[in-house]
Amino acid sequence: MDGRLGGARRRLKAWHLWSLPRPVRSYVLVVNLIAVLSTAATARLVPVTGTDLVRFGVLTLCAAIAIEGTRQIERQREYDRAPSVAYVDTKAVWSVAAVIALPPVLAAAMVVVTYTIAWLRIWPHQRPVLPHRWIFSAATVLCGTQAAVVVLSLGMRHYPGAPDSGLLAGLGDLAVIIVAAALRWAINTVLVMVAIALSSPPKSIGELFSGFGDQILEAGALGLGLVTAVVLVQANPLVLVGVVIALVALHRGLLLTQYRRDAHTDATTGLVTKRRWRQLAEEQLGRTRAGRKLGVLFLDLDNFKTINDTYGHPNGDLVLRAVGDALLAEVREQDICGRWGGEEFAIVIPDIHGEETLRQVAERIRHQVAVVSVALPDRDTVLTDLTVSIGGALYPAANITSVDDLLVATDTALYRAKQGGRNRVELAPPAQ
Ligand code: GH3
Ligand code: MG
Ligand code: MG
Repeated sequence: MDGRLGGARRRLKAWHLWSLPRPVRSYVLVVNLIAVLSTAATARLVPVTGTDLVRFGVLTLCAAIAIEGTRQIERQREYDRAPSVAYVDTKAVWSVAAVIALPPVLAAAMVVVTYTIAWLRIWPHQRPVLPHRWIFSAATVLCGTQAAVVVLSLGMRHYPGAPDSGLLAGLGDLAVIIVAAALRWAINTVLVMVAIALSSPPKSIGELFSGFGDQILEAGALGLGLVTAVVLVQANPLVLVGVVIALVALHRGLLLTQYRRDAHTDATTGLVTKRRWRQLAEEQLGRTRAGRKLGVLFLDLDNFKTINDTYGHPNGDLVLRAVGDALLAEVREQDICGRWGGEEFAIVIPDIHGEETLRQVAERIRHQVAVVSVALPDRDTVLTDLTVSIGGALYPAANITSVDDLLVATDTALYRAKQGGRNRVELAPPAQ
């Protein structure tokens, strides 16, 4: 018993909350306290029936399945989000449904349950640490939820429950629900933004509102939450399978695909990123059948630093984009153009005859880069006469049995091209 108490005390002491700056810490504790007190205050407003408990169980099950199905992308979103705004996600669907259709105490419990499931499943590595951020996020949603409870209990004809089935009365209920949800969102958002504004270093107003577009998700959560509430109360709860499928499928089909595409695409040039290029190169290497060859070209623009120094970095980016377009225009569809970094590009050319073809392709690319012209909007100038040095290598060859070998060989060849005066193609191994 003593040991367990000691452990709890130690864990409490190690709590990250204590290392926050004092104003933030006091603020967080006050918000947490308000959440607990307001939840306690509304808890007895409506008694809980057995039916309510069954509905709560159904919602919890749906929430757990949906969180499980979307946790990959939620983890990514949480990682990437602007740290300045309230993190919104689709688990609000379940707590919005609960606040409409269930007694206040169960609506509050749904917030706690969904936050706990998400914490356990989305951030498993942080489990030993008391998650003060998650507690605070749940507390702000609880505060918003209690405000919504007050509005709904005063305004809805059958609270908790679904909107009235009559047209006018139903419209009235709908308006009340929208007001309640908007209030829930506003309170949650303001509480989070105050915490961010308090934390050091101070953020500008612009920063505070960056990423605000994500907040539109809250409207989606309201819409689906409302449908969920009505299905829960008035229809066969099995129909909620439809809501779960919609949530997970839209997440994975749209958001995850978009995220993957973004992660695979270089923003400046639109070519694939280095990481993706390597993956695709490995795949192509694996597919190269006996007797066939695969070529890799490694390109480095000549004296690119001078372009940046003369015209500025943004114009340098326009040049990189134009070169990327020129590469894509010159190669076949199955060839893979990637931006390796800086002003370096790598191209995989699967299924190539041999050294002569590789050299021809490289020369074509070199000429194509030479005719690139880039209009620089802020300079009233058209930039021309770009040159590029290219190193190439073939697989399989002596000492070349992997993508890494190809990269080493092309790098050496590229070095020779630079040493030889730039604006030229060199292939590995060097011609004797
Ligand atoms: P060399 O002919 O020897 O290749 O000369 P260089 O000037 O091209 O070579 P170096 O590698 O020294 O310079 C590469 C420059 O590329 C340096 C850096 O300013 C620029 N650079 C790297 N990444 C970016 C980028 O994303 N955008 C722009 N505009 N420039 C970049
Ligand atoms: Mg370079
Ligand atoms: Mg260069």
